[in-house]
Amino acid sequence: MERDIDMNEVSDGRLYMANDLVKADCRGCHGCSACCQGMGASIILDPLDVFWLCNGLKTSFEALMADRIELNIADRLILPNLKMAGTQEACTFLDDCERCSIHSFRPGMCRLFPLGRFYEGHGFRYFLQVHECPNPDKAK
Ligand code: SF4
Ligand code: SF4
Repeated sequence: MERDIDMNEVSDGRLYMANDLVKADCRGCHGCSACCQGMGASIILDPLDVFWLCNGLKTSFEALMADRIELNIADRLILPNLKMAGTQEACTFLDDCERCSIHSFRPGMCRLFPLGRFYEGHGFRYFLQVHECPNPDKAK
């Protein structure tokens, strides 16, 4: 997805490969659920995400569309994303203890956070989103 942003403003200025070490491990998040709330339509799902959601919840795409996901236009494509709901604008999979109720099959974007993907040519590298996660004590 194309974004008009300065990478030096949103990252540590580095791009990482799969074998690089980067301080992105939030050590279980310790009760924080900031990245599961107020995310608008930004947690976009790819086909594998939808497959795992349907498989894990033993449901269908149509049933997810009732209250779990929604469709929005991104880069002139209609794509599904996780739906935010309630006064906290929280992901509907966030449970009462503010933990992810689908942790083992959560979407790829959730697994990757606070890393993001930087696409170039036919491949991609990873970047660390330095302003998105408030945990000051990440491990490598
Ligand atoms: S914002 Fe960071 S610490 Fe908080 S839940 Fe997300 S990844 Fe964990
Ligand atoms: S699927 Fe889980 S990790 Fe992802 S936003 Fe929802 S509650 Fe958070």
